[in-house]
Amino acid sequence: MNDGIGDGMGATVSYEPTLEELFPDLYEEGDGDGGIWARIAERWDLTGDLPTPKWDVTCPVCSARMSDRLIQGRLWSFHKRSAQSKNPHRCDVSFKCRTCSYVLMFGVVVPQEMYNRRAAHTAHSWREVHSILKKAQKFVHRDR
Ligand SMILES: [Zn+2]
Repeated sequence: MNDGIGDGMGATVSYEPTLEELFPDLYEEGDGDGGIWARIAERWDLTGDLPTPKWDVTCPVCSARMSDRLIQGRLWSFHKRSAQSKNPHRCDVSFKCRTCSYVLMFGVVVPQEMYNRRAAHTAHSWREVHSILKKAQKFVHRDR
């Protein structure tokens, strides 16, 4: 059967998501955050001025790794969702693979305090972020 789904990824897709699975934000019960902070804290460090990954970011195309200095931080862009969200503050964080040029983009929910500190609605280029993190002495230079 050729329904055209999944052709672009080289694999047949047999899974058909429900509306609840596609848009879980619209179906959350109670306080509506669905344990979002615990989930984010597993992957992102939100204790500093900017969200930084807690894992070795890896290119999905060529498998280059951040720990091999092949994934470069690119852009941190803060914005606020207009909908009545309990946690409306976001930072889109992108990285670029230095080997194949693929760009990875993450939409990270961030605390309001971080959003406020980072001059709302502005984007920070990798040079700015380097300077901010260095100033905060968040990272120690490692010799390899
Ligand atoms: Zn790559």
